[in-house]
Amino acid sequence: MQHYPDALSVVRALAPDEPVILNRPHAAARAARFFTEKFPGQSLYAVKANPSPDLLKVLWEAGVTHYDVASIAEVRQVRSALPEAVLCFMHPVKTRSAIAEAYKVHGVRVFSLDTQEELEKIVAATADEAGNPATDLSLCVRLRVSSDYSELSLAAKFGVDLADAAPLLQATRQVADALGICFHVGSQAMTPFAYVQAMERVRAAIVDASVTVDIVDVGGGFPSVYPGMEPPPLEDYFGVIHRAFESLPVSYSSELWCEPGRALCAEYNSMIVRVEKRRGDELYINDGAYGALYDAAHVGWRFPVRCLSEGRGEGEEGFSFYGPTCDDADFMEGPFMLPAGIKAGDYIEVGMLGAYGAAMKTAFNGFGSATAIEASDEPMASLYRGDRSDPRQSDNVVSLR
Ligand SMILES: *Cc1c(COP(=O)(O)O)cnc(C)c1O
Repeated sequence: MQHYPDALSVVRALAPDEPVILNRPHAAARAARFFTEKFPGQSLYAVKANPSPDLLKVLWEAGVTHYDVASIAEVRQVRSALPEAVLCFMHPVKTRSAIAEAYKVHGVRVFSLDTQEELEKIVAATADEAGNPATDLSLCVRLRVSSDYSELSLAAKFGVDLADAAPLLQATRQVADALGICFHVGSQAMTPFAYVQAMERVRAAIVDASVTVDIVDVGGGFPSVYPGMEPPPLEDYFGVIHRAFESLPVSYSSELWCEPGRALCAEYNSMIVRVEKRRGDELYINDGAYGALYDAAHVGWRFPVRCLSEGRGEGEEGFSFYGPTCDDADFMEGPFMLPAGIKAGDYIEVGMLGAYGAAMKTAFNGFGSATAIEASDEPMASLYRGDRSDPRQSDNVVSLR
């Protein structure tokens, strides 16, 4: 892979016709070290956020040993990139053949579930040829929790309701070597309070079911920084999670896990795009809703941007973007703040695309190819550099003390 100091030097050297994805391994490694050193338990990387094999190796080398995978393709991919990684199959609805292959071929021992049917499927798919059940399963029951404090909900699709959790926890306890409870508060949780509330539900579930719980997995949802979304420091999240975990009625030897996706990889990628046409405050660029800007189009996410051409004026204006395909839906409202004089032929760097950005590219309409280049400068924003102003005073933070 080619190396450049930054986006500007890529544009000067290559004047690329197609989008360029910039990888920043140093930023991903720093995020990984932050979690492995500061999270008071085990951090599993949620692979769906960005499954790039290069990134997987960076995270592994920075100390991430456990990986949350959700499909058999992810199981195979992580197993081939990282032969020694611990894989946890955390999609609560799996096919029987995927469970069997994960268990028998790839050494997966951790599975999640949210129904009795899934539990029976896991038990059947992992039994040996004589029909003896596996005795080495770690099974995590996914509990439905609120997504009220997150930018992207994950509350509707998965998770057993608290009211129905006791029989499922008891049945799972019967067949599991280790019993876990997991949840997901939704992605980009803007306050640690999201986890406090979820942990209260975990407590109620454990009390109701009167079972011994070996693993409490607080899932993903740890935020990154975007325009208009400045979360409190991650240390605050870790602090409240640790306190909530310590007060749960679980055994002394039980483990605390988390499954960060976004927080580990958001800073890993940015992308260089070119303005192909300007119409008023709308810029037609060469990536969009079917590319790395999926979230910018579909949920109005505002990624940070900067213009890579000089002499376009001091003042900034809000622009919206059209992507390259012929589809009207290939539209990103923004506003993206760029110099008022920006014009066709100019290049823009879009930052913080490592999570659910680079991974979303499709080939729809013949677009979607991009070169990847390594950059050594800093990401446009960082939760880990230690130079952010402390946003704890801001009003999106619920006081916890
Ligand atoms: C998507 C997902 C994650 C990662 O979520 P982030 O918000 O990116 O941290 C973790 N666990 C599960 C089960 C998921 O589906």
